[in-house]
Amino acid sequence: MSCFNQRVLDFSIIVDTFEQMERTSSRLALTDYLVSLLRKTPTDIIDRVIYLIQGKLHPDYEGVELGLAEKLAIRAISLSTGLDVKSIEQIYRNTGDLGDTVGEVTKSKNQTTLFAEKMTVERVYLTLDKIAHSAGAGSQDAKLRLVSSLLTLTSRESRYIMKFIMGTLRLGIADYTVIDALALAFTGDKSNRPILENAYNVSSDLGTVAKLLAIKGLESLRLLEITLYKPVRPMLAERVRSAEEALERMEGQSIAAEYKLDGERIQVHKGKEKVELFSRRLEKITHHYPEVAESIQKLIKTNETILEAEVVAINAQTDEFLPFQELMHRRRKYGIKEAIEEYPVVINIFDILYIDGEDKTSFPYFQRRKLIEKATKGLKNEKVRLVPQAIVKKTEDLEKLMAVAIEHGCEGLMIKQLLSSYRAGARGFAWIKLKREYRSTLADTLDLIIVGALYGRGRRVGKYGALLLAAYDSEADMFRSTCKVGTGFTDLHLEHFYKNLKDTRISHRHPRVDTGMQMDLWFEPQIVIEVSASEITLSPSHTAGINSIRENYGLALRFPKFTGKIRDDKNPEDATKVEELISMYKRQMRSIKNTRPLPKS
Ligand code: ATP
Repeated sequence: MSCFNQRVLDFSIIVDTFEQMERTSSRLALTDYLVSLLRKTPTDIIDRVIYLIQGKLHPDYEGVELGLAEKLAIRAISLSTGLDVKSIEQIYRNTGDLGDTVGEVTKSKNQTTLFAEKMTVERVYLTLDKIAHSAGAGSQDAKLRLVSSLLTLTSRESRYIMKFIMGTLRLGIADYTVIDALALAFTGDKSNRPILENAYNVSSDLGTVAKLLAIKGLESLRLLEITLYKPVRPMLAERVRSAEEALERMEGQSIAAEYKLDGERIQVHKGKEKVELFSRRLEKITHHYPEVAESIQKLIKTNETILEAEVVAINAQTDEFLPFQELMHRRRKYGIKEAIEEYPVVINIFDILYIDGEDKTSFPYFQRRKLIEKATKGLKNEKVRLVPQAIVKKTEDLEKLMAVAIEHGCEGLMIKQLLSSYRAGARGFAWIKLKREYRSTLADTLDLIIVGALYGRGRRVGKYGALLLAAYDSEADMFRSTCKVGTGFTDLHLEHFYKNLKDTRISHRHPRVDTGMQMDLWFEPQIVIEVSASEITLSPSHTAGINSIRENYGLALRFPKFTGKIRDDKNPEDATKVEELISMYKRQMRSIKNTRPLPKS
């Protein structure tokens, strides 16, 4: 029987699902639990339920954070339970998690909700939203009251509420799992997934996608349009090893080559009143680069527009580009004014998706480029620039440009089909990246996800000795291990990882992680780092690409080394894919064959 018409959803039903999800190590079971919850959810609150299970209150681009200090949370627990702050802190030291602390403190509370207050999801959500939005004078008291009012629920409910508030609800529900579950729950068929994905690509808001689907049906998703201030999921590039391969891949198409700048990708949304900047992960980051937003507002000649660009740090004296790492200094909450002076940046525009109410993504690239040229016409300002472009036909042209790009501090070239539309959220050969060779034998570095660790020994006691890294298997939506990395870390890095990974610790291997390795610690797959390696080998213990080359063998990186780059501009799903690893392995084997002397007859 369908429960779609049920008007309210009891919060305890969501908590039942959370508990099931927390216990499982199976990716398929996660989807099943989600489908069953979605089927019980009244359609008018389905967007909120989607946000809640992903540990947020709104889509990422709205940038709404609960932002509750630990001290205040402890006071709220004290207020609602009557236990003194010192005793709560003591329990917290043991559990390491404020949600579990609440669970522990209220353990003896009646679990049957007979005495505890009963609450709907709607009320819980609205209270959490109020906490997130209370600001200014008296907001601390207001937050205190609101949080402790939520902790009057049953022990297990309060535990999850506190986990949610503190951002430690780690259920591992990625966007892809939600999309699968929505397709199954509302269309009965996973094959409708591309329609949902498309809608997600233009809106970046799974709550809205879910609500439209649940209320108006699949067709309504096809009508979803690009909207100002809602980021579009970025188009991505495939990689090749040489200029020659790039041209082969383009199969005689007209192409342009551009600098591949080594900075941070930004999507610019310019309206009449304001400019917002979004990161590659679609988070609002206008506050990192307020001077860029200001220059865009002043200099770009359209009323409303969405642009794609790379922000790059420069040396103010020489105007030379500086590497990606320099931008780290701009990711701060305080001292922005000083950082603008000390670490100047320029914005380099390379695409345009929308102008004055019109979606331009279906236009071929050469026409979009003309639109950018028009929007930036006459610009002499150094803060806003157009990415230089050259039309190329021959391998030699590409090779020459590549050398110039590297000399100018770029990572290499982006090679683009001039007739291609903008394909939101897709990685394909319409864009090709050609990066410079690294000194290691592997032509390219890999971006891998940290999923586990070993405790350090000797000089590294009290830190991590090695990190277990995984590649992303997009087909199964899993993270499969490919190496343990212990080199390339400075003391500063080691401290950084120790501090930051603590917040993602979980008690067992994450359900979306697959590995044959035994580790001391497990993490929620969240942090992506860049590594180089000397080669890829067959491995009986790592599971990336398992059975693709040889039965029961996966692929492992030999001599992996951390390059020093933490890719916090990447989601775990944006990391190097297992398929890429497999094709890198095949390429490597081909080139070894080609260079090996022929066996003597
Ligand atoms: P990488 O790990 O190589 O930086 P990525 O996985 O972050 O790549 P890709 O789509 O594979 O993303 O590579 C394209 C990235 O290169 C873009 O996300 C953007 O940040 C950057 N970039 C630099 N210059 C350009 C350009 N001219 N056109 C498009 N992207 C550019």
